[in-house]
Amino acid sequence: MRHLRLNLLAASLLLASGIASAATAADKGTVIPQQAVQTAEQLRDKAMTDNTGYKIVESLTTEIGARIAGGPNDQRARDWAVAKFKALGFDKVYLEPVTYPLWERRSEHAEIVAPFPQPLTLLALGYSAGTPKGGLTAEVVKFDGLAALKAADPASVKGKIVYITFHMQRAKDGHDYAIGSPARTQGPVIAAAKGAAGFLLRSAGTDANSRTPHTGVTGFRDPKDAIPAAALSNPDADQLERVLGYGKPVSVKLDLDCGFNGSYTGANVIGEITGKKYPDQVVAIGGHLDSWDPGTGAIDDGAGVAIAMAAGKLIGDLPQRPDRTIRVIAFANEEMGLWGGRAYAEKHAADVGKHQLGTESDFGAGKVWRMTASVKPSARGAIDQIAKVLTPIGVAYDTKRPGGGGSDLSQMHGKGMAALTLTQDGTDYFDYHHTANDTLDKIKPNELAQNVAVYAAFSYMAAQAEGDFGSAPDAFKNDGAND
Ligand SMILES: [Zn+2]
Repeated sequence: MRHLRLNLLAASLLLASGIASAATAADKGTVIPQQAVQTAEQLRDKAMTDNTGYKIVESLTTEIGARIAGGPNDQRARDWAVAKFKALGFDKVYLEPVTYPLWERRSEHAEIVAPFPQPLTLLALGYSAGTPKGGLTAEVVKFDGLAALKAADPASVKGKIVYITFHMQRAKDGHDYAIGSPARTQGPVIAAAKGAAGFLLRSAGTDANSRTPHTGVTGFRDPKDAIPAAALSNPDADQLERVLGYGKPVSVKLDLDCGFNGSYTGANVIGEITGKKYPDQVVAIGGHLDSWDPGTGAIDDGAGVAIAMAAGKLIGDLPQRPDRTIRVIAFANEEMGLWGGRAYAEKHAADVGKHQLGTESDFGAGKVWRMTASVKPSARGAIDQIAKVLTPIGVAYDTKRPGGGGSDLSQMHGKGMAALTLTQDGTDYFDYHHTANDTLDKIKPNELAQNVAVYAAFSYMAAQAEGDFGSAPDAFKNDGAND
C-alpha cells in the first residue's frame, strides 16, 4: 500500500511539473527589471527619512479636522485634496461623484432613570433614528453577544432597549473587531426587526478604561427600518452592567437628535502620476477622505490618504515618469458603507484589467508588518521581488493568505483587480478608532514614513513590471479575501 501510494505521488508530481512547464511556455512570468528594483530600493530608503506623509496628515487634520460624510467639512476636504494633489505635483487631478444617504448627528444624551438615576456617556451610531422629542424611556434588556440577540424571543425584546455586551482584546491584527463590528452593524437591525424601541451596545473598542464612546455605522440603510441606536463608552457599559446586576428593572432614557436627511453627492478625489509607456494602465492606491466626527480623523483615515499621496509624490519626483500610471484615490464616505469604493468599482468594472495592482491603507498609521497578495500564479515571482525590497523595513510576505485590497478597494478586487493587503500594526488602533481620541498625536512620524516607503516601493515596482498580475473580470472570485 505504502509503495503504491508513493508511486502515485511521484506520478502526480511529474504531472504537476508537466503542467507547470506548459504554463511557463505560455506565460514566461511577470518580472520586475533589475533597474526598477534598484530605483524602488532608493525610493524606499528616501521615504524612510522623509516627512511628506506626516505633513499631509498634519495639514488635513489641522486645516479641515473631522470629515463626516456629507457634513459641513465634506466640500472643504475635497477642495483640500484637490489643492494638495496639485501642490504635490500630480499630473492629473479629478473628481468622480458619489451619492449616498445623508445622515446627521445633532445632539445626544442618555441617562439611567431607575433604579439609580445618573447620566450615561454615549454616541449615536451612523444611520440611527432620532428619538421622539423629549426622549424615549424604556426598560433595558441585556444580551451577551450578537448570537444571544439572534436567538432571543421577540416577545422578550419588544418595546425595550436592547443592550449588547462583549469584550475586545488588543491584537496586532485587530482581529477582535470581528466581534464588535457585527454587533454594531447587525445588532440594531436584528433588534429593530424583533420590535425593540432602541439599541445600545458596549463600544467596539479596546480602551477598557476611557470614557470615550466609539461611534460607527449600523446596518440601517432605510429610515423606515431604523430605531435609535448608540454606543456607550466602555466604563459606562461597565456601570450599566453593574446596575443591571442588582436584578431590578433598569430603565434608560435616550434623547438622540440625529437621523437621515435626504441624499448627498460628494466625490472620490483622484490624483495621478501619468505613466509614460502605458498611461491607461494604473496602480491604484488610496485611503478614505471621510472620517467620523468626534475626532479629527487622523488614524482613520487621514493617515491612509497621506500614505498614498506621499508615495505618489515621491514617485512623481523621480527624473522620469513611471511606465504605468500611479492613481491615488481619496475615497468618499467609506465609514457609512464603502460608498466611495462601491461607486469606484461600479464605474471602473469594465476596465478592471487595466488595474495592474492595487491596495488601500485604512488601518491607522502603525508599521506595515505583513504583505499578502492575490495575483495570478505566474506573477508570484514579481511579488517575491517586491517582498525582497520590503523585508529590510520589517514586512514579512505571507504566501498563504489572499490579498484583499483594503476597505474601499476590496470592491475593485471583488471585480477582479489583483490586490495586495499590507497589514499594519493595529495593536492600539481600536483604543482610538471612531472616537474623540482619533487625533494627530496618535501618529508616530517614523512609523508613518515606513508606510510611505512600502507604498512607494511596491507601487513603483508594479508600475515597471514586465507583465501583469492577473487582473481580469472576476479573476479572484474565490480567493476568500472578502469572506
Ligand atoms: Zn477607515
